[in-house]
Amino acid sequence: MIKEFFSNTTILIASFTVMGQIFKNRPLHHSSSMSTKLYWGVCYGILGNILMLFSFQINPTTIADLRHLAIVVAAAFGGWVPSIIASGLIAIGRIFLFGFTDTAFVAAISAFLTGIVCGGFSKLKIQPTLKAFFMNLIGLFFISIVFALYIKNINTLLNVLFSHYLISLIGGFFAYHLSIYIANSNKAVRELNLSLIKLQQSEQKLNKANEFLNRLSYLDGLTGIGNRRHFDEVLNKQWSSLLLTNSPITLLMFDIDYFKKYNDTYGHLAGDQCLQIITSAIRDLLANNPYSTFCRYGGEEFAIIFTKTKLDKGIAMAELIQKKVQALDIAHSSSEIADIVTISIGIASIFPSSKTQPNDLIHIADTCLYTSKINGRNRISTI
Ligand code: GH3
Ligand code: MG
Ligand code: MG
Repeated sequence: MIKEFFSNTTILIASFTVMGQIFKNRPLHHSSSMSTKLYWGVCYGILGNILMLFSFQINPTTIADLRHLAIVVAAAFGGWVPSIIASGLIAIGRIFLFGFTDTAFVAAISAFLTGIVCGGFSKLKIQPTLKAFFMNLIGLFFISIVFALYIKNINTLLNVLFSHYLISLIGGFFAYHLSIYIANSNKAVRELNLSLIKLQQSEQKLNKANEFLNRLSYLDGLTGIGNRRHFDEVLNKQWSSLLLTNSPITLLMFDIDYFKKYNDTYGHLAGDQCLQIITSAIRDLLANNPYSTFCRYGGEEFAIIFTKTKLDKGIAMAELIQKKVQALDIAHSSSEIADIVTISIGIASIFPSSKTQPNDLIHIADTCLYTSKINGRNRISTI
């Protein structure tokens, strides 16, 4: 008996573990979908049949095993549907696996009745462990009837019933709690996976937001072009790489003429708009130039870094920019040199070397811009 108890318990543990793995994302409970109940019902039915294969002979026509526990667990977790399916399959298996005998038919009916009564019992609103215990007793009750029908010797009957009740109650307690343990650990894994997915999603969102903020921190809010920070970074980075390839860098700086007067005449908002129109036009002009970086240097002063570009090309670009601003034809009635908005430009060009610094280039371009201003504005200066 002890040997059979261990082999049956091992089968239960192995089967519950395998079923728990197969259906880890389809847990069985009273509100599970019909298909889930069906799958589990079939599995418990198969388990019941396997348990029958490991049954032990009590007398030449009577066998005993823990098949009813498969029905009890099916009913305790999933209610009617898996209970009936499991018991039906066990009943069929009892007849087909062990021959068409009287005992087989009676045992099959006993199994099916266990399924029906346990299914009905599963609806009761009592403590689940207690409910499983009573279902186990229901199963044992039907088995007892079968035993009573076929074991005539009262002593043998009592002996068999005592052992069977003992094994079934211990095994049932074990099977039920093992199932709860597997269901709970599967639930914990599912919740953990869900949390991990949510965590990954939040991380992705956070990364995107960080990327966006990072990009934003390099942009000028009013004009949408690079800001001073962007200018400094690009200049330093390009300086280092051009130093290695011994390529030239040209810096163009320009400033709007009499912009204070523009603001005073047309208002600060119109001044903002003027800055946007000018930057947008120059941005379009530079759109196809992969060697240019256009930034707002500060206030109404702008800078364009031209990499791998010599002074002559820089001057040609400056002339185009100046013409483009003039072509915008933005009225500036208070300007002292024209009746439209104009710009003054300073250009400097250098081959980066270990003896020079990016600031040297800025300083020369700024000085040239200042020269354009003192020489009357709306002009281009270089050295
Ligand atoms: P100059 O021809 O010598 O450059 O004269 P200016 O008036 O343009 O130069 P100044 O440095 O005296 O004045 C610059 C003005 O630019 C003053 C400031 O209010 C204006 N300004 C700077 N940034 C902005 C801005 O974002 N929006 C507007 N509307 N005005 C700005
Ligand atoms: Mg100005
Ligand atoms: Mg200025």
